[in-house]
Amino acid sequence: MQSFTALTPILSNPKRIVITTHHKPDGDAMGSSLGLYHYFLLKGHDVHVVTPTDYPYFLHWMPGNAEVVIFSEQQNKATELVHSADLIFCLDFNNLKRIYELGEIVAQSDAIKVMIDHHLEPEGFDQYRLWNAEACSTAELVYQFIKELGDVELINKNIASSLYTGIMTDSGSFRYPSTTANLHRIVADLIERGADNSRIHQLVYDTYTEDRLRLLGHCFTEKLEVIPQHRTAIISLSKEELKKYNVVTGDTEGIVNYALSLNNVKLAAFFVERADLIKISFRSKGEFPANEIAKKYFQGGGHHNAAGGQSIQTLQLTIEKFKNILPEFNDLLNQ
Ligand code: 5GP
Ligand code: MN
Repeated sequence: MQSFTALTPILSNPKRIVITTHHKPDGDAMGSSLGLYHYFLLKGHDVHVVTPTDYPYFLHWMPGNAEVVIFSEQQNKATELVHSADLIFCLDFNNLKRIYELGEIVAQSDAIKVMIDHHLEPEGFDQYRLWNAEACSTAELVYQFIKELGDVELINKNIASSLYTGIMTDSGSFRYPSTTANLHRIVADLIERGADNSRIHQLVYDTYTEDRLRLLGHCFTEKLEVIPQHRTAIISLSKEELKKYNVVTGDTEGIVNYALSLNNVKLAAFFVERADLIKISFRSKGEFPANEIAKKYFQGGGHHNAAGGQSIQTLQLTIEKFKNILPEFNDLLNQ
């Protein structure tokens, strides 16, 4: 595995580059990818962002959105781009399983693979990497990437707005413990280089549909379950409920954080019934390792305080299983 700075000679003349990111991309996945995209455009490369699936409507305002190739909607075009790429940049994930079918196509490609990521336990499919599990976001690492290649002065409004979005969303709007003084310095620089912070905040957080707000109301009044003895809160949504509230990609994002916002709650879990499995989001406060529950019992993983997993049992059985394992973590939950 080589450091990414060894890429300098390779990137010194125009290359065909694909930037890809994880399934159902979030703000950091799109922000880091589009930030790097605009940087490579400036450097004269032939560059495309290829996502495995669609992503939330509140990210569609981002610069370069119209040029993104979505694999699940344009399989041939996406496959061709991956096959003909000289370099593939893999952002905000570190295991090819996280990009499903696109992962096999990336694995088969002869392109040089570069990983920029902040998740634990990289699989090792890459030849070059910029990896730091302590970074708040992949967007922060893309800033570091551009800086270490000596191009921080090239950061324009498009790059700054994209990276700002990634940092803002993955740091919980600058409040998680990963929000260091240095991160604030990076953010200050991005604002000076054109990121309109207040407008970006509005575009991402204040553009709910009425259905989405009513869905939240339903979650709080009808679905929130608090288990005080284990300092845990649960919210779940069935297929029928998703249909009733016309849920689209992105509508369920962040619901788990409301469960965690309760005083005395240390662990929050959100269960949602997808086409063929139950997808689970875990969030925790402080020392409690959300990723351990995800890894041990729900074929998942993630960060210490934000993790996810899945189950092929019914929604009800999955929730029961979760409740049954809580006593095992009782000491940690009541510390
Ligand atoms: P979210 O709850 O927002 O979907 O995911 C939170 C974090 O958990 C993600 O940043 C990712 O690191 C991790 N994560 C979510 N789902 C999975 C999964 O199925 N497998 C693994 N390994 N990590 C996941
Ligand atoms: Mn991220």
